[in-house]
Amino acid sequence: MELAAFAERARTIEAESADTDIVERVTDLLGAAGPDLPVVARYVQGRVFPAHDSTKLDIGPALCYEAIAKAAGRNVDADDVEARVAEVGDVGEVAASYDFGGQQGLAAFGGGAGVGEGTDDLTVAQVDAELRDLAATEGSGSTDTKRDILFGLFNRTEGDESRYLARLVLSEMRIGVGDGAVRDAVAEAFDVPVEAVERAIQVTNDHGEVAVVAREEGLAGLESLGLEIGRPVGAMLAQAGTVTDALDEWDEAAVEWKFDGARVQVHYDPDGIDQEADDAETTLFSRNMEDVTDPLPEIVEFVEGALDSPAILDGEVVAVADDGSPLPFQEVLRRFRRKHDVAKAREDVLVEFRAFDCLHADGDDLLDEPLTARHDRLADALGDAGEAALSDLAVADDPEAIAAIEADALDAGHEGIMLKNPESAYTPGRRGKQWLKRKPDVETLDLVVTGAEWGEGRRAELLGTFEIAARTDDGFAALGKVATGITDEELAELTELLEPHVLGEDGADVDIDPAVVFEVGYEEIQASPTYGAGYALRFPRFLGVRADKDPTDADSLERVERLADQQ
Ligand code: AMP
Repeated sequence: MELAAFAERARTIEAESADTDIVERVTDLLGAAGPDLPVVARYVQGRVFPAHDSTKLDIGPALCYEAIAKAAGRNVDADDVEARVAEVGDVGEVAASYDFGGQQGLAAFGGGAGVGEGTDDLTVAQVDAELRDLAATEGSGSTDTKRDILFGLFNRTEGDESRYLARLVLSEMRIGVGDGAVRDAVAEAFDVPVEAVERAIQVTNDHGEVAVVAREEGLAGLESLGLEIGRPVGAMLAQAGTVTDALDEWDEAAVEWKFDGARVQVHYDPDGIDQEADDAETTLFSRNMEDVTDPLPEIVEFVEGALDSPAILDGEVVAVADDGSPLPFQEVLRRFRRKHDVAKAREDVLVEFRAFDCLHADGDDLLDEPLTARHDRLADALGDAGEAALSDLAVADDPEAIAAIEADALDAGHEGIMLKNPESAYTPGRRGKQWLKRKPDVETLDLVVTGAEWGEGRRAELLGTFEIAARTDDGFAALGKVATGITDEELAELTELLEPHVLGEDGADVDIDPAVVFEVGYEEIQASPTYGAGYALRFPRFLGVRADKDPTDADSLERVERLADQQ
């Protein structure tokens, strides 16, 4: 497809505002793209390279303005271009306003095609080839080479061609076409179900390839597209949610610690990722699909020591202190960004891998398998050698059990917990409702202990469950009982602290004189007739003793009512 034809259509797309009209125009464009379909499917959304490819053009505005100035002729310099862009606010508009193509003697950089007055028959594929060459230049003098290639391209364009070329290279396409429009247009243009296109884009991250497969091989072709080791997919993302949300929605929740690090997708093939290129066995990708293999050699070593068959794993890189406890995630990011002196960085901050999902194992794509099955495959893949990295996944339907896992996670210095639907598939790049990061408690309450219960079995000598109450005008009104978030050690301390205030006992029930204040977390305040207050806390958790507070300083029922209203 000629760049002129592409630009003309881009212009009409830009003029539309309704989504359906945009999709209709993109559909026509894809239908007319011919052999340049893969490039057109990317360029129309302003992508020079496929989403999985972290190659960058590395063209900043300054370089682009220089190339434009050079193509515009002797009377224009980069400062003029810059001033006009500042005035107009669109590099495309400025590029389109010049009369390019007069610089014949120098135009050979533009691919060598005949340069005449203004435009020649520059195609989208030729632009693509030039931009790939441009991206591949490196080392000293590469800036000059980039500028020359870009100049050569501009010099072969005019009007709208220049407009969209300028916007494309500066990642400012802005014609209103996003992922969704291209997906819908591929489905429309080649008569395939939109869900199949969506899935194919998720696994390949290559809109161009998906468009071509849809056109040439239809639905069956799309369905046969799978993951490829070495080609990253978007990370499945989580939403904030509560234990209530999880257990209301699913019968059981898979619970894991939430590691405070940086996401990493591990691609491993013992025969080399690109076998023809005699490539490395391991590639690591960040959440943005950037290649982060070089800065993280100890993760590579770990992976290669643990795995022995091809796999794609999902997990988190965490920084750990000498005693194994987690360090803040800024430390991890510092390692991710490190380009030089990696060995030194490695001495300063040690990182480790925590694996929680498995997208591919030994020839099997696992995206559509349930989470628990994927976790089993993950455990198999890591084996004994990699067991240390495996996340503990517990399936639970009991809020108390979940709270206990959360308490462990917090005790171990982690951020909290993730709640996942045990049956859910892996949906790359989507922020769905199947993974929830437990929302931190809204606001904590300082409540007075007015009762307790003796524990059972091993804990028979200890008070185990504590009735907590808010202050009212003439006393205290109970809001619930807290039994979670308390370690054995803390139980012993609390028993000692409360025993002097015991007023009476009836079986396991203990009546306690209001004297001790607990800080209590919860998920929600519900209207409830169960306790005297008319409210009850859902999932109350012990956070600590407020030794600095007397019962008169405890939170009032009025505050509880106010918080309940604000929910
Ligand atoms: P946030 O970054 O706050 O949106 O939380 C979601 C992120 O938590 C994910 O993208 C992961 O990087 C990270 N994470 C830590 N532990 C887990 C886990 N067990 N499962 C899934 N994601 C996790």
